[in-house]
Amino acid sequence: MQEDKTEIDTVSPKAPVSGMKIYFRLLGHVRSSWHYLVLSVVGYMIYAAMEPALAALLKHIVDTVSEGSIAENRHMIPLAILAVFVARGIGTFLGNYFMAKVANNVVYDLRTKMFNKLVRLPSSYYHSIPTGRLLAKLTYDTEQVIGSITQAIRVLLREGLTVVGLLGYMLYMNWRLSLLFLLVVPLIGLVVAYASKRFRKLSTRIQNAMGGVTDVASEAIKGHEVVKIFGGSDYEIGRFHHAAHENRRSQLKMEMTRALNTPIVQFILAIMMAILIWFALSPSISSHMSPGDFIAFLTAAGMLGKPIRQLTDVNSILQKGIAASYSIFDFLDLPEEVDQGQTSVNRFKGDIEWRSVSFSYPKAEKAALKNINLSLPAGKTLALVGRSGSGKSTIANLMPRFYNIDEGQISIDGISIDDYKLTELRSNIALVNQQVILFNGTIRDNIAYGHLRKTDDKEVIEAAIAANAWDFIQELDQGLDTMVGENGVLLSGGQRQRIAIARAILKNAPILILDEATSALDTESERAIQAALDGLMANRTTIAIAHRLSTIENADIIAVVDHGEIIEQGSHNELLALNGAYAQLHNQQFTETAD
Ligand code: ATP
Ligand code: MG
Repeated sequence: MQEDKTEIDTVSPKAPVSGMKIYFRLLGHVRSSWHYLVLSVVGYMIYAAMEPALAALLKHIVDTVSEGSIAENRHMIPLAILAVFVARGIGTFLGNYFMAKVANNVVYDLRTKMFNKLVRLPSSYYHSIPTGRLLAKLTYDTEQVIGSITQAIRVLLREGLTVVGLLGYMLYMNWRLSLLFLLVVPLIGLVVAYASKRFRKLSTRIQNAMGGVTDVASEAIKGHEVVKIFGGSDYEIGRFHHAAHENRRSQLKMEMTRALNTPIVQFILAIMMAILIWFALSPSISSHMSPGDFIAFLTAAGMLGKPIRQLTDVNSILQKGIAASYSIFDFLDLPEEVDQGQTSVNRFKGDIEWRSVSFSYPKAEKAALKNINLSLPAGKTLALVGRSGSGKSTIANLMPRFYNIDEGQISIDGISIDDYKLTELRSNIALVNQQVILFNGTIRDNIAYGHLRKTDDKEVIEAAIAANAWDFIQELDQGLDTMVGENGVLLSGGQRQRIAIARAILKNAPILILDEATSALDTESERAIQAALDGLMANRTTIAIAHRLSTIENADIIAVVDHGEIIEQGSHNELLALNGAYAQLHNQQFTETAD
């Protein structure tokens, strides 16, 4: 089992915690709904009290008949029967409804806590776990918890109280016979203990398989074009079948254990009933019992069968919930992004310094950046050029502290970025990612995103104009209200980039990072944006990353990155004169365009 978990779950499992501890932690989330819980318990108590009441009523009927005192009880007994069932109905309603209320509150609580956690996790976590698995945690695992809470507590309370009520009644009627009955309980306990161990093991496996199912499905959906054109359907189908098969197999094993559990427990109970009746029929034990007592006692013993069976079944449900809670609490306990910075800042001037900065991605063997030294005065532009995979985006991603640097220091206005408050640091940086990210919403929502949400249309339009996006937005039927689809699928690549640039322009931050921001555009659109950006860059510090060197020729400093190191830096003319790596890159592109 442990092997399975490490194989599928990329997050290392914590030291095993006891099931009880997990369950108590889960119950901790119930605390805020305690009044509903009380109502529910009251409901189940009413329900449970009605079972022995029925047995007692039966005794009354039998005694009435055998004593021949029918006349005075003729009206009483039918009314009593109705009263018992009305009370039982009210008890059931109160118990079930308020228990559902508690459970849904807990799931709501867990889901929102998990999502709050999700947005506070360090970037490295998002890379360490497939999206499908994360989604399964938020949906499937929390659903498992709802099942565990409602059903398990419902059965534990309702059936548990019923057992207490019935046993109490039996002890009151004939304690010796009752003690005999109680002898079986340890035997049932053994069966249940074995079953629950197995249930938990299988539940974790089902959960992982469920994560596998969502993983494969979400990848196949996102990558549907690649799947089609590269003939990946069979491969993806195979992967999906494997995951679904794994799920079915574990699910069936679980049902098998459950299906065997019930008849075995039932059989043990039947043996006990047989022995009980054998003893009960011996005159020495039951001589003082009336026929009514006798019938009521056996009825109560028979009535115990159902709640005891349900109580043993509750384990599978409980184990499912505990397995799901493991996964949820593991997630909730993940460390959040470190934010120990104290320095408050309103708006940066924009002097940036890199001092011997080295960095490796978590779990990566090779360093992504080695000993980077650069200084970028406020208001100037730094261009990063170099081969694919050389580390340009990494330099950009360290600025907003998506990752923590291993060695050296990046400082802004003379203070290390680690010392600024994280949100304030980030609010001073506008970033256009290499992979444009748009949200499923309108164009307006996407330009005026996050803190900018309340910006009025006039400013949004100004930003769209500066990003050379207004022309195409105007041509759309719904203008700014046009829905862009998930990740902007309803727009072209270049249109998406321009929306992202407009978003960055609207943010109006003192530091602007453009990572291949215009790579998907034609030369004409690029030039138009460049003109707008030049105006924008005039009073802010800019880091621009580009493969097309023509777009960065005017940068104040050009740095050539190679294998994580800066191998050359200077202005366009200086670097050409140097006749090194930059000159070589430049000549290559120049001859390409001349061709
Ligand atoms: P490109 O021009 O293709 O965008 P780049 O210069 O921006 O390339 P980076 O994205 O900075 O390159 O990547 C630098 C190195 O770091 C690469 O070797 C890459 O394999 C590695 N790398 C990038 N992102 C991660 C990550 N999340 N985890 C581990 N390694 C990464
Ligand atoms: Mg890059």
